This record gives sequence, structure tokens and C-alpha cells, in this order.
Amino acid sequence: MNCPSCKEYLEASRCPSCGYDLNRGPWICIKNSYPPDDLILVSLLRSHGIPVKTRSREVSQIPVGIGPLAETNIYVPEIIAGEASALIDIPDSEMD
Ligand SMILES: [Zn+2]
Repeated sequence: MNCPSCKEYLEASRCPSCGYDLNRGPWICIKNSYPPDDLILVSLLRSHGIPVKTRSREVSQIPVGIGPLAETNIYVPEIIAGEASALIDIPDSEMD
């Protein structure tokens, strides 16, 4: 992945170039999605070098045992949220 601040390649959570620390910067949820869309969105973001975190949440109204119908919240560093949102909001026809 790349540093969300300076775009340098990032191997650890702290950027050696600008000092941005993934563990310290604020993360915000840019999308709530459901399987399998969540996996597609996450891989799309990661393919652009954007750090992604997800948190799954059971949907309480759904009876247990119906399958993988848990809502997934997709988080990215706040500093790059605008770019990340734009990436996952493009129509299917424009995706490679
Ligand atoms: Zn950086």
C-alpha cells in the first residue's frame, strides 16, 4: 500500500518519508456494504494502494443461519477518504 499522505510506498504502519502513522491517523467509514461487494470494494481500494480496514457487523434483523449477510463497514484513513470514495463510486462500466 501507499502512504495516504505523501503516496510513498509503505511497508509499515508509519511512513518513513513524511511520518504519517496509520495507527494514529483518524479512520473513517466511507461505505457500508454486503458480501460479496465488500470484498470487491476492498480489493479495488487495495489495488490503488489505499490502506483499508473493515469491520463486520451482524444485521440483527436477519435470522441466524441465513448465510453471510453481515454488513461490512469499510474504513480508510480520513486524509484519503475523498479519493477512496471517488474510486468506489465509479460506475461498473468504467472499471477495468
Ligand atoms: Zn508519507
